[in-house]
Amino acid sequence: MQKEHVAKKKFGQNFLKDDTVLHKIIEAMPNSDRKVVEIGPGLGDLTKFLVDVKSVTAFEVDTDLCKLLSDKFKDEIATNALTLHCGDVLETWKTSLLDEDYDLVANLPYYIATNIILKALADPLCHTILVMVQREVALKFAATAGEKNFGSLGIITQSVGEASIVVTVAPEAFEPMPKVDSAVLLISKTANRSDEAFEAMLKVAFTQPRKTLLKNLSSHYDKAEVLKALLKLELSANIRPHQVTTSDYHQLYKIL
Ligand code: SAM
Repeated sequence: MQKEHVAKKKFGQNFLKDDTVLHKIIEAMPNSDRKVVEIGPGLGDLTKFLVDVKSVTAFEVDTDLCKLLSDKFKDEIATNALTLHCGDVLETWKTSLLDEDYDLVANLPYYIATNIILKALADPLCHTILVMVQREVALKFAATAGEKNFGSLGIITQSVGEASIVVTVAPEAFEPMPKVDSAVLLISKTANRSDEAFEAMLKVAFTQPRKTLLKNLSSHYDKAEVLKALLKLELSANIRPHQVTTSDYHQLYKIL
């Protein structure tokens, strides 16, 4: 008999046990012939639905889980329906995680979720990102101008595609239960994150998110130039960083 796996906090192990949510993730998957990458297959609850519909490559850091998965999915591994890589996905991930086009579908480990999404936004072979993350993180990626939590993550996302929240998920759907609400985030990419200088400007723009954009940008750029640029874009000198649209940020970047 298989001994029961004890969840490891250090690897962000909160296993999704609610079939309704698992089905919602599968329903939200893009209609494509691309491969699916799953990061952190865990006990394989999402994996078993994924291998039914797509060819899957999975990355799992926990060697105990890797053994368990190799056993549970031995038929799928033998027929190449599932390729399992054991190790830290971030160490494997250079420019591209695979050498072919793919969609990322995963219930991510929350301690590295933002980093993984940012890497996937930059990866030219990744087309869609469908991931369960902490609700607060999902809202930041899906935020639009004017919303309180609109910042660099929302602007970077809108610069490369479109984001939406598929469903909000309560802690009870997981075992063990996380302390926070979760949400499934969907990002459909039409371009790749690549402009480091633009992102550096965003960092300056949001240094103090509640202060004016003028004050933040003036810490790095000449104040008169910033004022001139705001005027040209018909933006008020008192405007706050979260009130400016992605398209205006790109214009500001060009001018400054
Ligand atoms: N997919 C499973 C589910 O839905 O129940 C498990 C999700 S659990 C939130 C996150 C998974 O990511 C765990 O299996 C954990 O071991 C794995 N993980 C954590 N850090 C990782 C890393 N750096 N590389 C690959 N997998 C990782």
